[in-house]
Amino acid sequence: RQQQLRDDAELMAQCTKYFQHQLKHHSDSAKAINYLKQRGLSGETVKRFQIGYASSDWDGILKTFAKNDQQRQQLVDLKLVNRNDNGRHYDFFRDRIMFPIHDRRGRVVGFGGRVIDSDGPKYLNSPETRLFHKGHELYGFWQLQQKRQKPAQVVIVEGYMDVVGLAQAGIDYSVASLGTATTTEQLQRLFRTTSKVVCCYDGDRAGRDAAWRALENALPLLKDGVDMRFLFLPDGQDPDSLVREQGAKEFEKKLGESVSFIDYFFEHLLADIDPSSETGRSQLLSQAKPKIEKVASDFYREALMEKLAEWLRREK
Ligand code: ATP
Ligand code: MN
Ligand code: MN
Ligand code: MN
Repeated sequence: RQQQLRDDAELMAQCTKYFQHQLKHHSDSAKAINYLKQRGLSGETVKRFQIGYASSDWDGILKTFAKNDQQRQQLVDLKLVNRNDNGRHYDFFRDRIMFPIHDRRGRVVGFGGRVIDSDGPKYLNSPETRLFHKGHELYGFWQLQQKRQKPAQVVIVEGYMDVVGLAQAGIDYSVASLGTATTTEQLQRLFRTTSKVVCCYDGDRAGRDAAWRALENALPLLKDGVDMRFLFLPDGQDPDSLVREQGAKEFEKKLGESVSFIDYFFEHLLADIDPSSETGRSQLLSQAKPKIEKVASDFYREALMEKLAEWLRREK
């Protein structure tokens, strides 16, 4: 089993190199390169994140890496190759910009692929495999760990392009939670690396929902001394678009003005509850209290309870 995982990791590394090579040398690579340029990425950034290109050929990976049945099966297991009902095999990722996802030791465990100009879902991600467990990995975490110093803060964003776009602008301390809500496991890993985490999701409904879920998942991790903050972006913006439009200085300024989890906690609950009525106050109590009880730090728990008591004392 250990040997198999090593073989898998080796194959994933070779496929990463293959996609990188295709980005430079495939006959269709110009459109991929132009796309990356148009999104403002330098060759250096593309190299740092080992970004590549999967061509629209149906058999690039298959031809290069499936030399026998066993190898072909391994590619199917790692979801780099599909088998249809007629038993035909073909490449899983086609005509996409490829973002390799590294685990914390630097092994490539999965890919995200973005369409360039064809139809289909905007992003295609590796399904779960024996190597890839979505809720555990954080895109950009390995690159973050390559730095000599531990980061003073880490920004959690939604997407690959947010991490890459921020890094391009010089903000090289963000990670993405890969489309899912940021899990307790992901947050746990981050809080081992830094004591300050700023959640900065897209300025839309999904992004705001993701922020609340991240806070709920973080409650048992909020120990003394950890700082969790939230930066909400204007409608229609995401970290990548904002940093492109307004620059790194402005983005960092906004990070400095992010709200603490304590303020966000009450802002969120009071958006749907009117504390001027008794019914409203009782709702606030029943929604807030069980969550506050989950908070790890005595200090933060007390602080939240005090704020709650303040709201409950208000008469009008
Ligand atoms: P871009 O700037 O390239 O349009 P984005 O990161 O802003 O990309 P979003 O739509 O905000 O795209 O999605 C955020 C993240 O959610 C993506 O990076 C990807 O990980 C995941 N995602 C988005 N769309 C899909 C999809 N159709 N299937 C699976 N995952 C997706
Ligand atoms: Mn989004
Ligand atoms: Mn975007
Ligand atoms: Mn987005």
